Amino acid sequence: METKAITLRGAQQEVDQWIKTVGVKYFSELTNTAVLMEEVGELARIMAREYGEQSYRKGAEKGNLADEMADVFWVLCCLANQTGIDLEAAFRQNLEKKQTRDATRHLENPKLKP
Ligand SMILES: [Mg+2]
Repeated sequence: METKAITLRGAQQEVDQWIKTVGVKYFSELTNTAVLMEEVGELARIMAREYGEQSYRKGAEKGNLADEMADVFWVLCCLANQTGIDLEAAFRQNLEKKQTRDATRHLENPKLKP
């Protein structure tokens, strides 16, 4: 079965559809901001154990990095929907900024020279 590509706009719409049917309604913007921090923390916990010096407790299950990244993205979509942000347009504008304003910034950073 072929999986259909999901645009950022499509992802926001899918999240909105789920929230309004299965999820009943959106948590408040402030609650979702806290939930976003929780999810970022879960992602950080895995990073610290997989790529950093922290270790898993004996018998503890390994985390699922991809799933935690998806959780972060999910809550970000919720917040974008609640605050009227079109993530696709915002991401395009952000890319544009990086390609113009910041075009040579890292190239000129002496700290990044090999
Ligand atoms: Mg999570």
